[in-house]
Amino acid sequence: MSSVAQKRILVVEDEARIADILERYLRAEGFATERASNGKQALELWRAFQPDLILLDLMLPEISGLEVARTIRAKSEVPIMMVTAKADEVDRLVGLELGADDYVTKPFSPREVVARVRAVLRRSSGSSKPVQRWRVGPLEVDLDAFEASCGGAPVSLSPTQLRLLARLAAAAGRALSRHELLDELGDGFVDERTVDAHIKNLRRRLGPCGEMIETVRGVGYRLRDSSF
Ligand code: CA
Repeated sequence: MSSVAQKRILVVEDEARIADILERYLRAEGFATERASNGKQALELWRAFQPDLILLDLMLPEISGLEVARTIRAKSEVPIMMVTAKADEVDRLVGLELGADDYVTKPFSPREVVARVRAVLRRSSGSSKPVQRWRVGPLEVDLDAFEASCGGAPVSLSPTQLRLLARLAAAAGRALSRHELLDELGDGFVDERTVDAHIKNLRRRLGPCGEMIETVRGVGYRLRDSSF
């Protein structure tokens, strides 16, 4: 069933057995897939295949998954879902300079991966939404242009970070629970620590505006509605 709406997934995985399983499940669900077994091939296929989403194994020979993600993220907003065997890498993955949109840890259920791929694609394709721009003090968020700035200086955010920030900006001055913020991140598979990791990263990325995101003890987070 190929159609113009068929989404393309690039599976980057050096373990053939795992790549086979992922490709089989994704194809059974109507996705088109390509496979790269190393980082160099991943970058080549990213350019040639123009995937709608990249499933990226962290541990790859030669060029690591982190390097691949950084290279791609510097040029593209394509959703990246990291696959890792190391649960303790998770904070780095969802956070910090990487800009991954989601992650799964090995061993994973292929069904869960497919569900999360769908969720990420759904979030990244909100084309029929109304114009969504917010200005809170020195902070500006534009979901349509996928841009944010602090005091006029552009800040570089991943799609997930931008959506989180927009959610906070839309509710400026009001505390949002981690549960409410989770709505921006996933469909029930994501846990609350993921929110914390994203917020930590978001604060860093925002520069001076980072301190506008306040932790509300026992609740979650709030974007302070005032200038500094
Ligand atoms: Ca691997």
